[in-house]
Amino acid sequence: MKSMRYVILRDDDTNALTPPECLDYLYRPFLERGMPVNLSVIPEVRTNVLQPDGQPEGFLMARTGKEAATVPIGENSRLISYLTANEGYHIVQHGCHHDYLEFERTDHDEVVRRLEHGAQRLLEAGLGRSRVFVAPYDRLSRDSLAAVAGRFEVVSTGWFELRGLPCAWWPQYAMRTLRQRPHWKAGQSFLLSHPGCLLSHRRPLETMLDAIRTTAESQSVTVLVTHWWEYFINNEPDKAFIDVLHQTADYLASESGIRVVTFEDLADGRVPLH
Ligand SMILES: [Zn+2]
Repeated sequence: MKSMRYVILRDDDTNALTPPECLDYLYRPFLERGMPVNLSVIPEVRTNVLQPDGQPEGFLMARTGKEAATVPIGENSRLISYLTANEGYHIVQHGCHHDYLEFERTDHDEVVRRLEHGAQRLLEAGLGRSRVFVAPYDRLSRDSLAAVAGRFEVVSTGWFELRGLPCAWWPQYAMRTLRQRPHWKAGQSFLLSHPGCLLSHRRPLETMLDAIRTTAESQSVTVLVTHWWEYFINNEPDKAFIDVLHQTADYLASESGIRVVTFEDLADGRVPLH
């Protein structure tokens, strides 16, 4: 008998400038079928963040240039009403301002200040205190990782490597590597890796669903990462890419051996880690 497989859908970069219509267009087919969407939300977005090539970050697509330097998520009341009206959305804290490599910093006090400020912004907006953390660009210094793990029950990131870990975690990490497990636990935190952004406009559309299927069926828990703004490059819906996302919803809903769950399901023991 095949054992049950679990998929955690993680969409990054929702922020104060995100039009709720974009999220609804993408995720209505998931929400209508009772499949939860974990939204990794930027608590107080910096509105002039640039990519390494000098272009503004894609998640600022609705920027007019008249915004303040940072905008708390709670200032977009239309977005907050939309998120709170749809209980299928589960809010995850995504950094604080989403500065470039925001949590690769090593100054402990500033790391803690940003973690607490971000948490406060989500609370003020009525989105609650997140039990889950996702670092911008999936990058965390060793100091940041230690600080995050002390405050959040689940950390979702790309991968873990020994030199980026607090020394006290090395024995658990060695065990995890020996057993070839993508996810593990250190202290009180679940540490989840993911197989890269399988739903990305940088990948070929023709093979995307197959790659998702192969990955989801080959491991117990798969964190499936995507970014809402990648479906709206140049402020136009990319219909072919959105079709693949909706085909993914069809596949996940119809496959009896797969359940779509939340990070909290895992933290509460309703989903096995391995
Ligand atoms: Zn991000």
